[in-house]
Amino acid sequence: MIKKILVNEIHTCLQGEGTNLGKPSVLVRLQICNLRCSWCDTSYTHTYKSDSFNRYTVDELSDLIFQKDIPHVIFTGGEPTLQNLGLLSRTLLQKSSKFSFEVESNGTQIPHKSIKDFLYSDYALMQWNISPKFENANQKLVNDAMEFWARLSENHSLVFFKFVIRKRHKIRDLQKILEIITKFKISHSRILLMAEGTTQKSQLSNEWLHDICLEHGFRLTPRLHVLIFGAKRGV
Ligand code: SF4
Repeated sequence: MIKKILVNEIHTCLQGEGTNLGKPSVLVRLQICNLRCSWCDTSYTHTYKSDSFNRYTVDELSDLIFQKDIPHVIFTGGEPTLQNLGLLSRTLLQKSSKFSFEVESNGTQIPHKSIKDFLYSDYALMQWNISPKFENANQKLVNDAMEFWARLSENHSLVFFKFVIRKRHKIRDLQKILEIITKFKISHSRILLMAEGTTQKSQLSNEWLHDICLEHGFRLTPRLHVLIFGAKRGV
């Protein structure tokens, strides 16, 4: 049986969040997520209804990505680590050594333990943007997975932790974020904070977030695509 990858959308864009903000990219949104966060803005990736996504072999999908002619690829979701990103990335690197990859993950999975064909060496091929979901999304951390990503960040310079923080509950959210960082011994230099929201207003006038980041040595990431396009999909 040929294992297929479930893809919700593929399009070119400027990376809208994180350390590569503004970078021309190919965004590959994979279908299916293991969580149901209360403020999820991509719940359309949760369904197995066949008219919501396409199924591609690794060769088919790598051809589609290659044709976009941009060497930086963002794997997002849904939860992209539920599918074989290692094999896909290695296949793309065989087409061109110029490819670079970053993964937006909720940090609940340990890919080399759950995905056949995901090699431990595959971690080094990608930047990992781990966005832990906790009580502010009505979720609980998966401790062994968080421990894995935290320890990986000590040996891999491209592992970051991006926390969503809500303006209305900033004190409570910040307290929890600090607890998590302390518990898993994560360097503050690897932490990014992002204001929750899919409206342009939610990403403006966030002096409160600026001040929190400066005080704690965190990076602030805006949501560039939201600032420019609002809640529009596929941008
Ligand atoms: S992890 Fe991401 S895609 Fe999954 S439910 Fe949470 S916000 Fe949505």
